[in-house]
Amino acid sequence: MQDVSSLVEQAREGRPRAVARLISLVEGASPQLREVMAALAPFTGRAYVVGITGSPGVGKSTSTSALVSAYRRTGKRVGVLAVDPSSPFSGGALLGDRVRMAEHASDPGVYIRSMATRGHLGGLAWAAPQAIRVLDAAGCDVVLVETVGVGQSEVDIASQADTSVVLLAPGMGDGIQAAKAGILEIGDVYVVNKADRDGADATARELNHMLGLGEAREPGDWRPPIVKTVAARGEGVDEVVAALEKHRAWMDEHGVLADRRVARAAHEIETIAVTALRARMLDVRGDHRVAALAARVVEGELSPYQAADDVLSRL
Ligand code: GDP
Repeated sequence: MQDVSSLVEQAREGRPRAVARLISLVEGASPQLREVMAALAPFTGRAYVVGITGSPGVGKSTSTSALVSAYRRTGKRVGVLAVDPSSPFSGGALLGDRVRMAEHASDPGVYIRSMATRGHLGGLAWAAPQAIRVLDAAGCDVVLVETVGVGQSEVDIASQADTSVVLLAPGMGDGIQAAKAGILEIGDVYVVNKADRDGADATARELNHMLGLGEAREPGDWRPPIVKTVAARGEGVDEVVAALEKHRAWMDEHGVLADRRVARAAHEIETIAVTALRARMLDVRGDHRVAALAARVVEGELSPYQAADDVLSRL
């Protein structure tokens, strides 16, 4: 056990080892987290959190790295959280050494961390926001949350971000996949990467059509831009940053950022509470009284609702 206040102090100074240690406490669902999060709370809420989602192979890792470079050129401190909802906890090794990120490894203004969260009680919904808080309190101006894989978990992660970037690439049947995964609802900024390949324009057009961007909107509504990039060569990446900044300014102007953050905090509270409740349920499940209730449900003496009320009253 390490002294939490000194760890927090060191993390606030941006010391990588302390930041790493704190995120490991998150991954390990350490009982010390309560104290850590309480100590960090006054220093959070400053970072701009950007979610980056898209099917495997579209260029998320390459784009994230290029975005890091772009933000570094403007002197911003950047945190990268690469989240893999499909693998078990990795202790930060799985994605941390990804080749594309290697160029930033020695930059003290960049903090890169991966988290794999399958099998975690309460899963990612619970862990990722806490890791974001750590990076935020450690002084990152921007936190890029890159997710691996497509699906509901990815959509959930997008809901943790201030701005969500959805990445597509030509010729991957991405449009259809994106629609299936529901990511067409979550994008604030769309990027068609691999614009050096045939079909990028067609993908952008298809996307434009699917998003209904041609249709009239209320004045003041956000119109998600579609930016074409060649992330591998850093082309178009400054335009992505410009689109992000524009979205951020729009959110500020319309009170959307504050609303999103409140909604996120509400979700976070709920997730922590439900996770705590479930943990207590698991304790109770081993209780012979639950076994007795279950037997009575089987016998038809009690409805499962009555039995559940009985269990809840004991939590
Ligand atoms: P991820 O799985 O979404 O993180 O995708 P990666 O960033 O690992 O990229 C997948 C592959 O696409 C790698 O081989 C990259 O070098 C390549 N790639 C990334 N961006 C571009 C691009 O703009 N053009 C081309 N032609 N290839 C790219």
